[in-house]
Amino acid sequence: MKNSYHINEKGYYGEFGGAFVPEMLQPNLAELKEQYLEILQDKKFQEEFQDLLQHYVGRPTPLYYAKRLSEKYKTQIYLKREDLCHTGAHKINNTIGQTLLAKRLGKKRIIAETGAGQHGVATATVCALIGLPCVIYMGAIDMERQAPNVARMKMLGATIIAATSGSKTLKDATNEAIRDWIQNPSDTHYIIGSVVGPHPYPDLVARLQGVISKEIKVQLLKAEGKENPDYVIACVGGGSNAAGAFYHFLEEEKVKLIAVEAAGKGIDSGESAATSILGNIGIIHGSKTLLMQSKDGQITEPYSISAGLDYPGVGPLHAHLYQTKRADFMAITDDDAMKAGLQLSQLEGIIPAIETSHALAVLEQRKFKKEEVVVINLSGRGDKDLQTYIDYFNF
Ligand SMILES: *Cc1c(COP(=O)(O)O)cnc(C)c1O
Repeated sequence: MKNSYHINEKGYYGEFGGAFVPEMLQPNLAELKEQYLEILQDKKFQEEFQDLLQHYVGRPTPLYYAKRLSEKYKTQIYLKREDLCHTGAHKINNTIGQTLLAKRLGKKRIIAETGAGQHGVATATVCALIGLPCVIYMGAIDMERQAPNVARMKMLGATIIAATSGSKTLKDATNEAIRDWIQNPSDTHYIIGSVVGPHPYPDLVARLQGVISKEIKVQLLKAEGKENPDYVIACVGGGSNAAGAFYHFLEEEKVKLIAVEAAGKGIDSGESAATSILGNIGIIHGSKTLLMQSKDGQITEPYSISAGLDYPGVGPLHAHLYQTKRADFMAITDDDAMKAGLQLSQLEGIIPAIETSHALAVLEQRKFKKEEVVVINLSGRGDKDLQTYIDYFNF
């Protein structure tokens, strides 16, 4: 039987996925599960979603032929410019979709968790746009480390609640958000920021981000006379920009997919976020997937120079792509990513997010043929990372 790369009716990709949540959360998830597909396919919903993607986010984002980069690596490189989305990354595709969905479900309030603050900003932005109150849970330590994003969220009108338990980071913020949702089941929607969490979130987020690959097909047909590239390359934290860039190519087995994780200081250094390569099967945030854990099942603290990639798990779709070998998983170190980010800046005049720099670093490590078409998903812009680039390169 051919592999399927889409979710089955029980909420699984192969053996990964499901919904491992406390009993008290079941009604919230059941409501979402029963209604999300119908709402996503509703004509009025689609009209409103597409209108905002076009006029507010600025879609379709360009598929840009990177001439100097292509010359350097002797292949045909296109960059999908998600960095040009309003707020500077792909995350807003998901938050707009989920906020419109929440409205259709009759919800009056939005909550979200955030680590580095990017998902929090994308959520606060859309809540301001739609006019819904917004509460963002964030680890107290992350609030210190990501002060500019905290300021952005406040300016956008969101309430930030510091998670002060445990390691005071993303995992603790997630626990607090879940607690809030349990206490406010009928009027609140919880926006998860990547293709992670219990069913139906991974599928919901993948569908909303699928706009990326839908556009690539149309744009490539125009530019190259064919819809399918030879390769699609994207970085993976939780996996949403990669899921979006891969989505409409999953069943096109001739299109090779490369998923890029953060090797941090090296795969064997003990300081990395190379989840698929180092991880094994376990449950994180309500989903059965691959995650980095010790022998007794304690989740390992991940590390990457890029705040958006240091997540100890990976979405169940990606665990399935890894296990079935549909996608090739690579791990890129901090140093190689930083070099690739500097190179893109100076060859093409585009300063990428450090997350994205990991995907760009694949060009140094893989050989592509002259005539092959390689699409790299440029998930975000580098403004937020300027201080990290400055410290690293001593500018
Ligand atoms: C958040 C983020 C990522 C990582 O998240 P995914 O869900 O894996 O896409 C990657 N790039 C940028 C620019 C981000 O902001």
